[in-house]
This record gives sequence, C-alpha cells and structure tokens, in this order.
Amino acid sequence: MSRFLKEQYKSLEVYTPGEQPKDTQYIKLNTNESPYPPAPSVVEALGKQDVENLRLYSDPTLSTLKGKLAALYGVESENIFLSNGSDDILNFAFMAFGQKGALFPDITYGFYTVFAELHAVEYEEIPLREDFTIDYKDYLNKNKLIVIANPNAPTGNSRPLEEIEEIIRTNPDSVVVIDEAYVDFGGTSACKLINKYENLLTVRTFSKSRSMAGARLGYAIGAKGLIDDLMRLKFSTNPYNINRLTTTLGEATADAEDYYMEKCKEIIRVREYTAEKLKGLGFEVLPSKANFLFAKSNDIDGEKLYKELKARGILVRHFTKERICQFNRITIGTQEQMEQFLLAAEEILKGEKQ
Ligand SMILES: *Cc1c(COP(=O)(O)O)cnc(C)c1O
Repeated sequence: MSRFLKEQYKSLEVYTPGEQPKDTQYIKLNTNESPYPPAPSVVEALGKQDVENLRLYSDPTLSTLKGKLAALYGVESENIFLSNGSDDILNFAFMAFGQKGALFPDITYGFYTVFAELHAVEYEEIPLREDFTIDYKDYLNKNKLIVIANPNAPTGNSRPLEEIEEIIRTNPDSVVVIDEAYVDFGGTSACKLINKYENLLTVRTFSKSRSMAGARLGYAIGAKGLIDDLMRLKFSTNPYNINRLTTTLGEATADAEDYYMEKCKEIIRVREYTAEKLKGLGFEVLPSKANFLFAKSNDIDGEKLYKELKARGILVRHFTKERICQFNRITIGTQEQMEQFLLAAEEILKGEKQ
C-alpha cells in the first residue's frame, strides 16, 4: 500500500475469489462455473469481422441484447440494465441505494460486505436460522437497502416468492435487491413482480447457468426508475462497460435458451444424485436449489476434507468463517466428475476411520 491511497480504502478487506489454478488437471468444483461449454451456436458466433470491428467502441445502449432479454423475461427494454458481470451491478446498487444502511444475512455472498465497506454503507448482517435458512420476518419494515441472494450462496437454500414479496412490500422506502445468480437451478424469480414494486431490483448473471463466467456479463431487471439510476452511474464511470465480443456472445446466448435450460435440468439431476450419495456417506447436506451443494461430515474436519480432496486433484470451496468452517461448497459438475469426487470423498473418509 502506498501512502497516497485515500484513507477510507486503507482498511478495506478485499473479496477473495475462489482459486483459479493455471494447470487444468483439477476437477474444478470450487467456483460454481458450468461444466458444459456454451451452446454450439454461441461457440460459432464470433468471426473475423467481429475482431476487426474491435477498433470501434461497443454500443453503449446495448439495445439488441436488451431487446432479446426483454422478450425472454416478458418485460420492456427499459427494465433491463447490463453490466460487466453482475458484481458490477451489486457494486452500483450499494453505491446508489445504500444511503440508509444495508441489511443482508451473515452467511451469504462474500462480496456484499466488501461493497458496503467500499461505499461506506453501514450494514448489519442478520444471522441465518439454525438450519441455515433466511427468516424473512427479520427483513420486514426495515427500510434499508436489503440484499438477498435467492437461492442463497453458499447454502443453496431458496425462499418462496411469497416471502420475498413480503420483504419488498414492507420496505417501500428502500430498495430490495434479489440476487438471482442461481435462480435457473430450481429457484423462483421475483422478476415477475417488477411492475408491481418500484423498489425491486433482481440481478442475474450469464456466469453460472449460461456457461459464460469468463465473458463477464450480468444484468438487472427492475422498475424503470431504478434502471435509470444504474444508467446514471454507468454513464458516470464506464459507458462502454460491455465489450463488443461479449455483446455478440450474449445475443447468441439469449437465442439458445433451450440448450441452457436442458443443461440446467441435467445439473439439477446430478445435484440430487450427488446429494443422495453424500448422505449415504454420512454427510449432512443442506437442501439446494443452486448448482452446488453445501455439506459437512462429522467424521472429518471441513478444512482437512478440502485439502485431502485437493491433494487428489479435486477442488471444492472451503470458507474459514467460524459458523460454516466445517462445511465445503461443492459445485455440481458432470456426472463423471461427481463420480470421481464421490469416490475420493469415500476414500478419504475411510482413511479417517482407520
Ligand atoms: C457468482 C455470483 C455472482 C457474480 O457473478 P458475476 O456475474 O460473475 O459477477 C453474484 N452473486 C452471487 C450470489 C454469485 O454467486
């Protein structure tokens, strides 16, 4: 750190991304990426002309991509905001709507505290219930910025729309952000409520269910007023926040909805299979509506399991936070990858019991 850094940033605790090892030997079940490639039409979408066109700035209105997403979700283009990954949108949301402070669960996406600190937003972390679920009653009538991942991460728990709507309805003077990064794996989206509530912002990403984590493309669906606010911030920071290549790939992705929904179904099937097998090995597995499982075993320390798996070429995500340090978050890969993971887990547990 230099002595030139602004005082307020000196104590910032930055977000720690999951490991991205350079050698591809690992079975990578640690950052909730899709195990499947993008749709064939997406793989083919870029040509020489697209690279030549990089000399031109990208389209700051992104009208074609917005139009396609609007059609997909039954909303208007003016209800959609696009950004360079959904982390960017969450950043803007804390920047724009955090005036009265923020509320989110104690166990949730690690970036929320980082954004709150970055923008000097006072925040309160509300403990999940004993069973790691969100109690929606904790969020009623608070009139602060409320940020809820639904399904939540890293727990995988999903709350029904009625509970989410109650939170939105009882906080009319503040924004409620529903982070739906994992909604395509069995959750229920709140985006059908955007015409009813001017304070609702749903946030989505192409990173998980759309096999495009490396392209960085996120979007928000919300009332026009909120979208306009986000646009103000975008045009005050980086009007060309989505590059041309990603825009073209995003358009092709929106046209290949059937392919991605098919893959989500397969991931859900493999998730349920893996959960059953883990329970058979004595694991406690939280019910998940996401593309990962959160599990622990009383027969082995959580961090030790993570390390033993890594030594066997399998990466999962371990968090050191006390309340969840016995758990590991396991991304759902292909059936074959999960078979290898299960085999390794079984072997490690056998070693522990000897
Ligand atoms: C992965 C993830 C994101 C970020 O996604 P990007 O679009 O890749 O920035 C946001 N929220 C949650 C809960 C996530 O797990």
